[in-house]
Amino acid sequence: IIQIEHLKKSFGENLVLKDISMDVNKGEVVTIIGASGSGKSTFLRCINLLETPTGGKILYKGENVLEGGYNLPNYRTHLGMVFQSFNLFNNMNVLQNCMSGQTTVLGRKEAEARKVALENLEKVGMDRFIDAKPAQLSGGQKQRVAIARALSMDPEVMLFDEPTSALDPEMVGDVLSIMKNLAESGLTMVVVTHEMAFAKEVSDRVIFMDQGLIAEEGTPEDLFVRPKEARTKEFLRRVL
Ligand code: ATP
Ligand code: MG
Repeated sequence: IIQIEHLKKSFGENLVLKDISMDVNKGEVVTIIGASGSGKSTFLRCINLLETPTGGKILYKGENVLEGGYNLPNYRTHLGMVFQSFNLFNNMNVLQNCMSGQTTVLGRKEAEARKVALENLEKVGMDRFIDAKPAQLSGGQKQRVAIARALSMDPEVMLFDEPTSALDPEMVGDVLSIMKNLAESGLTMVVVTHEMAFAKEVSDRVIFMDQGLIAEEGTPEDLFVRPKEARTKEFLRRVL
């Protein structure tokens, strides 16, 4: 669905993404692991253009979205994003959070938006909380709503940036198991995570980033059982 070619991003003098190429194929779960500061979030934010890449190409269905004249808002609606910090609309209740993008961006009628929102809230086990405001929810519940909100836009690809790292330990499992269900349902996902067990178990492909480059990639077997690169071995020794 998405092909990334020689992507580069710098913040001033700081070259954060040096030359990243990767494809995201339909139905695939790709996890991205790597040390803090290696550029994982920046990479995800470049994929959905929350950051503007400094160089390279992002091909969506064969067309470079970075070329002048490309319909960026349209591209963005095909991508769902879940952040570490939830980013819910605090002034809206759970149902409104899951409906607003559908009505404003996709132009869906209220009734349809409500139906879609309820289906997705049910999927994440939050359909009993439709009237609650984000402030009344636990971190894990907020993240489940954030996932339902993103799913309600029917994205073609879901991007997750450390969706469990701000959660209390007892909530991590819930969110991971929802993500695992989504993966099994065939959703295309790119997941930045520190949860190595999740990466091992759920991903089709694991990418290890180091200092703005993909240092190694392969199946979970390749990466976790027989890593080739010294940097990968060193990283895994520290986190496992
Ligand atoms: P973590 O595991 O801690 O989330 P990460 O791999 O996601 O780390 P990034 O957040 O992508 O790393 O950051 C990579 C580098 O880019 C860091 O040196 C960071 O300081 C820099 N950086 C990220 N965002 C910006 C920004 N908006 N302006 C300037 N520098 C930035
Ligand atoms: Mg990050």
